[in-house]
Amino acid sequence: GCAEISIRDIDQIANSSFPLCMRHLFEKLREDHHLKHGGRMQLGLFLKGVDLKLDDALAFWKAEFSQKVGAERFEKEYAYSIRHNYGKEGKRTDYTPYSCQKIISSTPGVGDHHGCPYRHFSEENLRTALGKMGVSGRTAEEVMDKVRNRHYQLACTLTFEAIHGSSCDAGINHPNQYFSDSQKILQ
Ligand code: SF4
Repeated sequence: GCAEISIRDIDQIANSSFPLCMRHLFEKLREDHHLKHGGRMQLGLFLKGVDLKLDDALAFWKAEFSQKVGAERFEKEYAYSIRHNYGKEGKRTDYTPYSCQKIISSTPGVGDHHGCPYRHFSEENLRTALGKMGVSGRTAEEVMDKVRNRHYQLACTLTFEAIHGSSCDAGINHPNQYFSDSQKILQ
């Protein structure tokens, strides 16, 4: 695809074009060198959706996980499920990246980092996360207002518009749509 990414510039791209749900998973993975199953699925399928190739995906996850569990355990316990996500193992189903609706209706437990931050973060954590994205003041209040009214995707759309200085009339309904709309503006 046109938005193909490589692991060489994935940090920069995550910072400019990942929606908050994926930014959060990405940061936690870099920090903890680990993600639980729900997070691996949500981020892994998103990365597949932005055209991170299987070999790059394996290298990316291995670089983090092997710092925590070692390369051998990574190969034994985690590499399979990454290939599985790409349809290379098991039933060879080609798994589809999750939509906002699916992510918003998920139920992350303790120690999980998947889900939608607009839905699942505390107000304080969400404010902090927005601030790190450069969204503050009146715009942040508008975002929080949408959140209080349970319009999580509208909150994400407002964030997108604030960051990109550009309107997003269709609204955000998929993390991969957020990504491709962002890349269209930035490229
Ligand atoms: Fe991710 Fe969608 Fe939530 Fe935005 S609204 S943070 S893209 S799940």
